[in-house]
Amino acid sequence: MPSDPPDFRRPDDHRPVLRFAPSPNGRLHLGHALSALTNEAMAERLGAALLLRIEDIDLARCRPELAAGIMADLEWLGIRFDGAVRRQSEHFDDYRGALARLRAKRLIYPCFCSRQNLRRDAGAREAQTGKPWPTDPDGAPLYPGRCSAMGIPEAEQRIAAGEPHVLRLDMAAALALAGGDLHYPLFDSAGLESVARADPARWGDVVLARKDTPTSYHLSVVVDDALQGISPVVRGQDLAAATDIHVLLQHLLGLPTPRYHFHPLLLDDEGLKLAKSRDSISLAALREAGDTPESIRRLLGFA
Ligand code: GLU
Repeated sequence: MPSDPPDFRRPDDHRPVLRFAPSPNGRLHLGHALSALTNEAMAERLGAALLLRIEDIDLARCRPELAAGIMADLEWLGIRFDGAVRRQSEHFDDYRGALARLRAKRLIYPCFCSRQNLRRDAGAREAQTGKPWPTDPDGAPLYPGRCSAMGIPEAEQRIAAGEPHVLRLDMAAALALAGGDLHYPLFDSAGLESVARADPARWGDVVLARKDTPTSYHLSVVVDDALQGISPVVRGQDLAAATDIHVLLQHLLGLPTPRYHFHPLLLDDEGLKLAKSRDSISLAALREAGDTPESIRRLLGFA
């Protein structure tokens, strides 16, 4: 029998703190503007502080000039943020600390598999079983667990030899330690509160630290949301499934679980999510074409 969802309402809740947290690996597009403006409107409604966090852990793809461009776009849109901007690339020690705590609980292990090998593995298993290899909610093949059984001496030897590796969460061990159903408080666009059940198992052994980065999106977002006292977390519906991992990590690290609100996404003419990778129109291009902050706000329903 699943346990009853816990009651997350706290009578002593202090002033809420919201955040907009873009990654500077491209310019902002209309989808980001929607997210930033949703945060602004929500902060106003709740009397909350609104912080800006630059999620630039990917040092190969995130560039300082793109971060500067994002800040210029947000200023142009007229969104005001409270407090100092937090840049994740300046806080790797915080994420290393969280990793060390998970390591002490024996919840992470090094994985030496390349993406190419993983794809090949999945293909071979599909051929063997005649069934599609399971994928995570983002469509990536679930990790088959090849390195999870590796003995510590072999892993240490390969690390000492400089072999590139990532660090993965041992999902089965993490769920066993969490011991039971995980939930998080949620509210919809009408403000209706509910409690969602998190199902982190569907993500398999997720990567928590990459080859050249001592962290990952999942780990740093959880550490920062807690450090900055963020609640509610207001972000796009596309990150709803990843919240399952975040709630598990909060549990394992002894961090509070914020309330969550996932806003609808802006879709392009083909019904696809706007994304930098698909060259969706940037705010900078719209500005050059004559759009104003008012016209963008009106277009997105915030006038
Ligand atoms: N940095 C993420 C992005 O740009 C958003 C993170 C979040 O809101 O949790 O997609």
